Amino acid sequence: MKKNKVIISTPVHVNFNACDGCGVCVDVCSMNVFEIKEISKEAMNDLSFMGKIR
Ligand code: SF4
Repeated sequence: MKKNKVIISTPVHVNFNACDGCGVCVDVCSMNVFEIKEISKEAMNDLSFMGKIR
């Protein structure tokens, strides 16, 4: 009997106020869903004080 694979797609959300850009998620995710890149000025403006420091 042939087995069908089901891939469930759910959005990945990173809390930029908590992320420090260490890159561990990029290294450990077997599905390669993460990448490290600079955020836009608009996104930067939305961060909390601590998020901007990180
Ligand atoms: S870069 Fe580091 S802190 Fe940010 S989401 Fe990935 S593992 Fe977490």
